[in-house]
Amino acid sequence: MVFENAEKQLEKAKKHIKLASETEETLKLPKEALSFAIPVRMDNGTLKLFQGFRVRYNDARGPTKGGIRYHPNVSLDEVKALAFWMTIKCAVIDIPYGGGKGGVIVDPHKLSKAELERLSRGWMRGAARIVGPYRDIPAPDVYTTPQIMAWMMDEYSLIVGEHCPAVITGKPISLGGSLGRGYATALGGFFATKEAVKKIKVGKKIAVQGFGNAGAHMARLLIEDGFTLVGVSDSKGGAYLDSGFDYKKLDEIKQKEGRVDVYPGAKKITNEELLELDVDILILAALENAVTKDNVSKVKAKMLVELANGPITPDADDVLHKNKQFIIPDVLANSGGVCVSYFEWVQNLYGHYWTEDDVNQKLEAKMVKEFNATFDIYKSKNVDMRTAAYVLALGRIDEATKDKMKL
Ligand code: NAD
Repeated sequence: MVFENAEKQLEKAKKHIKLASETEETLKLPKEALSFAIPVRMDNGTLKLFQGFRVRYNDARGPTKGGIRYHPNVSLDEVKALAFWMTIKCAVIDIPYGGGKGGVIVDPHKLSKAELERLSRGWMRGAARIVGPYRDIPAPDVYTTPQIMAWMMDEYSLIVGEHCPAVITGKPISLGGSLGRGYATALGGFFATKEAVKKIKVGKKIAVQGFGNAGAHMARLLIEDGFTLVGVSDSKGGAYLDSGFDYKKLDEIKQKEGRVDVYPGAKKITNEELLELDVDILILAALENAVTKDNVSKVKAKMLVELANGPITPDADDVLHKNKQFIIPDVLANSGGVCVSYFEWVQNLYGHYWTEDDVNQKLEAKMVKEFNATFDIYKSKNVDMRTAAYVLALGRIDEATKDKMKL
């Protein structure tokens, strides 16, 4: 499903840009796809094999970059699709990387901390032959954490015999992680939204689907900037408050109760109702396929921001575009995360570390520039914003591929 959506988006964009045959060919298959067994000695003494993957989809613009996912539903096909997506995302935000992705078929919640460490070190031993600071640089994704990045970095350093922080990003600060990385995805999305609001005049009433890492920081940043959060949800349900949520109180309730729908004085709503609220901006920060052909006609927001990956299906996309509901697509809206990962890698290679303000200013400059580059294509080619972002990315990948390969 995920790869089908990515392919559909690619085909749509290709109608608006002439690619060299070399580019078309090299985008058809991943450059490398590694599938390997990870033997892990469990705490009870038995040996268990886990299936690990690493895919380097395309490296026309630089070393491949992308997270590692720990989830029972991981498959090689999904990892390939996500690696393709990273190729587009890195090109949209114009960082010198190609796209990669990794994963392990595992429910990490069923492992002890020691088992998780052995699994993570085992993943790195399996992937080390294609990973490297100038080859392929992993990062966290679903259910992988800075601690896991630290174990993997340490394992890689043991393999190559030197301290090698630049092999992986999303590390703890003590091991070369970047200041600002923890909320970079939300901050990038915030900068993009602020630019969008300058172009598409909309009001300040917002709703956030998915009060997790990305969604909560985004809610905080927008409230601090004068927006009113009237709707919010997490996996347990949603809440509506016409006068607007107080961020501090909302965060406290989420920490204490593990849910947002018990906010005092707010009306409980379902996750579906949250998507249908009469708001100016809807932030999608939960899961893929939240807005589909079945519910798109009920979505009233004038602007939708995809902090999650793939929250709007292609058929829903077409409807929203026809209705002039503006979308900031995932490959642009959530690219702040990989952008600050790139900053982390640069700092590691230099051995020189920036202040949080430095990081955030550099991120703002990137987001503003690439939002406007995408918006210009949206206007000049009269396409939707997602197609515009793909056209921008494909143009950059095409240029690099031609310079490398064309006779
Ligand atoms: P997270 O697990 O911290 O948060 C996800 C939130 O969504 C949780 O609060 C969960 O309760 C909620 N949720 C789940 N199902 C829901 C539903 N049906 N309705 C409403 N809420 C629901 O994850 P995150 O790191 O914030 O990531 C969210 C999305 O953003 C994912 O798609 C992720 O791939 C994408 N993303 C995150 C980053 C990052 O740096 N964190 C970077 C790029 C993309």
